[in-house]
Amino acid sequence: MDEIMSLVKGRDPEQREFHQAVQEVVETVKPVLDRNAAYRQQGVLERVTEPERVIMFRVPWQDDDGQVQVNRGFRVQMNSALGPYKGGLRFHPSVNLGIIKFLAFEQVFKNSLTTLAMGGGKGGSDFNPKGRSDGEVMRFCQSFMGELYRHIGPDTDVPAGDIGVGAREIGYLFGMYKKLSNEFTGVLTGKSLNWGGSLIRPEATGYGNVYFAAEMLETQGETLEGKSCLVSGSGNVAQYTTEKILELGGKVVTLSDSSGYIYDEEGLDCEKLRYVKELKNVMRGRIKEYVEKYPNAVYTAVDPTLDHNPLWSHPADCAMPCATQNEVNKVDAENLLQGGVRLVSEGANMPCTPDAVDILIDSGVLYAPGKAANAGGVAVSGLEMAQNSMRLSWPREEVDARLKQIMKCIHKTCLDAASEYGAGQNYLVGANIAGFIKVVNAMLDQGLV
Ligand code: GLU
Repeated sequence: MDEIMSLVKGRDPEQREFHQAVQEVVETVKPVLDRNAAYRQQGVLERVTEPERVIMFRVPWQDDDGQVQVNRGFRVQMNSALGPYKGGLRFHPSVNLGIIKFLAFEQVFKNSLTTLAMGGGKGGSDFNPKGRSDGEVMRFCQSFMGELYRHIGPDTDVPAGDIGVGAREIGYLFGMYKKLSNEFTGVLTGKSLNWGGSLIRPEATGYGNVYFAAEMLETQGETLEGKSCLVSGSGNVAQYTTEKILELGGKVVTLSDSSGYIYDEEGLDCEKLRYVKELKNVMRGRIKEYVEKYPNAVYTAVDPTLDHNPLWSHPADCAMPCATQNEVNKVDAENLLQGGVRLVSEGANMPCTPDAVDILIDSGVLYAPGKAANAGGVAVSGLEMAQNSMRLSWPREEVDARLKQIMKCIHKTCLDAASEYGAGQNYLVGANIAGFIKVVNAMLDQGLV
């Protein structure tokens, strides 16, 4: 295990988030390798930690002042053992190769857990869409796709959204792909409904996260009814996590963005959530505007140099980090325990740092890693691909029922794998082991390619 880590770190010393994601998987799958000599002889760990292909490219575009801007584009095609590469695109100034590799690595095991035939990939750019006009975003997306189109395809690699990439960006990206390839195919998911999108895709990550949390609670004979929840983020995942918690009778008291968070002691209701959706998705505003509309709530600006985020210090029953990687650290985890939190379900990718995860699991909190809890998004992307292939679209109830079934199945798969390896109700161990075994068995079936 140490050898693998020094290989991975030695190759790319600066890719911290990638090391973190690999370390967590390597540690938890050790018993699987101990039991299986073929896995060791076949170098499966060496192979899954090295992307099949990495594409990096220049993205030149012109802003509204006529000034030329240059960003960097990425697509990491991590693993295609289970199907075409599949995973989102992230547009955010923090994006670099290490971030995209960590996300692509997580995506491989997440997609494996969904029960659907999808390999893993991820892409994006350090482009910052914040404050940019629609025209600027369109020109950027067109330039980005001007290179990406030659590397993707409905049976090769199917990108989707992630942070900074929603329905608007998917539309511009799709338009350019269609023009360049002269084909109308299901090459992207998260499309708008009237031209190939799937019902429930916008809701899927958040709904799936809450379905998974409900499954965890059910093992204790409990439900979300009456439970108070801390939710971070205010984008797509946070919005639909909130919506489903409210529907199941829970209470959501926080939302956030990169500048700070709101605490609403009365809890959000449908009307307040509708306002948040309008604020974030249409007006593209900031979460602090919530308190102008609802003055009983309190906004706290968060100093990024602080050693913790005060959002996680409020007393609650559950926490659903739905913003970004490493947003819950050791101090935050201690504060969560102090505040009475007994369940943490990750709507975002890798939001808890490794020492935060250790604290939560050691204290007996029901902890769901993102690759299990947030897999509903990519699962419904898989259902969008299936509908596109059939040139049909399923009703809302059908997609939602399939999503619920998939989340139930992922929950059971995690528990079964954890128990087979003597890890009790450790969902982290279960998700990593189950996701890993399916991928590496497929790799071995397909030979050394
Ligand atoms: N970006 C999402 C994720 O982290 C969705 C990917 C997809 O739908 O392909 O899983």
